[in-house]
Amino acid sequence: MPDQHGRDSGDFPAAPWWAAAPLLDAAAHTRVGLNPTEQARAGGYLQGRPREDFTAGRILVRVLAAGLLNRALQRQGTVHASDLDIIQSCPTCASSAHGTPSLHLPHGLGSFALSYARTAGWLLLGLAPGTGLLGIDVAEPADAAFAPGDGDLLEDYAYAPEERELLAALDPERRRDTRARWWALKEAVAKAGGEGLTGGSGIPVVAGPQPHELLRAPGARVIELSPGALDGLGNPLPGHLRGAVLWVPGSAG
Ligand SMILES: [Zn+2]
Repeated sequence: MPDQHGRDSGDFPAAPWWAAAPLLDAAAHTRVGLNPTEQARAGGYLQGRPREDFTAGRILVRVLAAGLLNRALQRQGTVHASDLDIIQSCPTCASSAHGTPSLHLPHGLGSFALSYARTAGWLLLGLAPGTGLLGIDVAEPADAAFAPGDGDLLEDYAYAPEERELLAALDPERRRDTRARWWALKEAVAKAGGEGLTGGSGIPVVAGPQPHELLRAPGARVIELSPGALDGLGNPLPGHLRGAVLWVPGSAG
């Protein structure tokens, strides 16, 4: 199907695109580095695993974005991860140390909305052409927060009454799985909206008769990421993760 640049992209899927990789993959990309803002932020993480995971995640954002751009723009091998940069800006306080990310590309490649998430040793990336709203998130159903018992606390806090009613009708295993899937979608909606989960309008409602307005926006696309789903680079999502991507297209970039 023709993409927003008017080219036919063959068997490459329609936007939004996503890709997933284990954080360990970052070690193979020694020429890809972080910008000074990210290096300062990495220094704020505890030494060892937390700092290594943050750094690996930011390297993989560039690597996966380059891979998707090469396919989306049919420029195989011409977009390099080391040419890409990640710029963040906070809509609330204008800080560049956190907030909505955007991808900084070499001149002439247009603009792309960017979102990413890091969970359970993996990095997931979402990418879409233009300046629309994009959010991606990933959750691990095995996380204790989604378990019966512990999960009830999360359920009371994070799920609306109409969502809790739907969850209560499920058997324990499906309930746990659905909690994780909806949690990922809530995070994706919150990221797309730029407000975060604790924004003014509260935790987004994603199921029932009146889901969040972004899920009902004209042209909105939601992709549920299930185990085995193939990403834009041909790699399957591993069995322990559930995820979601929300894209509300804006003007073409
Ligand atoms: Zn801020």
